[in-house]
Amino acid sequence: MANVTLKNICKDYGKGNRAVTDVTIEIKNKEFVVLVGPSGCGKSTTLRMIAGLEEISSGELFIDEKVMNSIPPKDRDIAMVFQNYALYPHMSVFDNISFGLKIRKFSKEEIIKRVSEAAKILGLEEYLKRKPKELSGGQRQRVALGRAIVRQPKVFLFDEPLSNLDAKLRVQMRTEISKLHKKLEATIVYVTHDQVEAMTMGDRIVVMNKGVVQQVAPPIELYQKPVNKFVAGFIGSPAMNFIQGTILKNEKLLFKSDKGSLVYEIPSADESRLSNYAGKKAWIGIRPEDIYHSSANNVDTTNFAKINIKIDLVEPMGNETFIYFSLDDILITARISARDNSSFQTNSAFAVDLSKVFYFDSESEIRI
Ligand code: ADP
Repeated sequence: MANVTLKNICKDYGKGNRAVTDVTIEIKNKEFVVLVGPSGCGKSTTLRMIAGLEEISSGELFIDEKVMNSIPPKDRDIAMVFQNYALYPHMSVFDNISFGLKIRKFSKEEIIKRVSEAAKILGLEEYLKRKPKELSGGQRQRVALGRAIVRQPKVFLFDEPLSNLDAKLRVQMRTEISKLHKKLEATIVYVTHDQVEAMTMGDRIVVMNKGVVQQVAPPIELYQKPVNKFVAGFIGSPAMNFIQGTILKNEKLLFKSDKGSLVYEIPSADESRLSNYAGKKAWIGIRPEDIYHSSANNVDTTNFAKINIKIDLVEPMGNETFIYFSLDDILITARISARDNSSFQTNSAFAVDLSKVFYFDSESEIRI
């Protein structure tokens, strides 16, 4: 298997259309790295440059120590799995899986050996004689995986491989691909727009926006220490709530939202970090799970800001309840534990856990 290194990689599609800017990532041998970001952020272009399907405008791509920029795709020792699995409809599962080996002139014995191993790993042994149309969506995606596995490549590249599957199957295939990664001890680069997929599968996640890498970190670090407002808002579902306001210095340091619906004393743990911002505007970010119904018994009020709100909507999900309300005319989402089974009155008191609030510079949007 292999290390994959991207050094200052850019992609220009011409006419000032820059899809990827200065991407530098070191992917370690056997690592599962997920590229995630909204549609159009440059994930697929980055992946296709690793595959050799798209020319690199500037910068260098290494697989192990070797520069790959001008090496054709077939000589890069990589296998790619796409969203539309592109199986040959007239060929059996066996022939679909073995196709790449046949055109590379592998011996019949070797082909049978590799396809049998892959079919066993993927649970496809009983289906080898069937045609793609006789398979479910999940089975077809497994055939596409099989086609990649038998090549025994140095690196696997996945481009949104689960987008065509229904929600339940996606969750199942997610676990299967994670297990497969452990079994094959493969280096994997995986593209998705779905942050849940990224969080559950990646050893490390690369968050991209507008062609630029925002942060590279393991999932929990992204969640707990997002570098900026974009990452904070992208990772986590439902998304973080953002409110703009000013940091004020009286005797104590305070935060006051623009329209005054939220005013609180900044906890002492955050004071020294934020004191330089006195008199300046800032964004605060509150995760939905850090807002509590204040009649809940477990709310210790010392580090909490009480807010009196008018509930717009209550969505009971069973395991949790989402509450929507406005603060400063911004729609806020609160995620209330199912343990709190009190009834929600239209006019209610809630509390924000101030020890969990994130602060962002109002201009650069970098986390303070
Ligand atoms: P993602 O995979 O994150 O959705 P892409 O890498 O496909 O994003 O696209 C990044 C940007 O490059 C987009 O603005 C897209 O319109 C543009 N783009 C992608 N492919 C081409 C192309 N062949 N020609 C011109 N622009 C392209």
